[in-house]
Amino acid sequence: MQIKGIASDTLDFILEASRSMAPEEFAGLLQEKDGIITEVLILPGTESSDSNAVLRLYMMPNVKAAGSVHSHPGPNRNPSKADLHLFSKTGNFHIIVGRPYNRQSWTCYDREGNVRELPVLDVEFEEDEEF
Ligand code: ZN
Repeated sequence: MQIKGIASDTLDFILEASRSMAPEEFAGLLQEKDGIITEVLILPGTESSDSNAVLRLYMMPNVKAAGSVHSHPGPNRNPSKADLHLFSKTGNFHIIVGRPYNRQSWTCYDREGNVRELPVLDVEFEEDEEF
């Protein structure tokens, strides 16, 4: 499935969640529908321990994902070694959000860690549909 972009509402949700979780990391898996990323599968059981959000992503059951998203506590949005390892495992769109968690402070990478375009799309959500 060719990914056309991410729904603007979904991006706003990610930014909002990253902001409210900081300085803890927010992490989840991106789900697409008809080629548009419209869902974020958030990690269950987020504890306020020191466990790294990216490492917790490894423990997600093997669900089909378009990619992943996680936040960094600071403005640096470069993927770490652990990030790159995760990227290579799930999907081909990996968003890293940095402080201050706004529309200008996120970057999308491919599975090799190269920056890639991810258009932000205004789409209407259909509420009661099943996967
Ligand atoms: Zn990271």
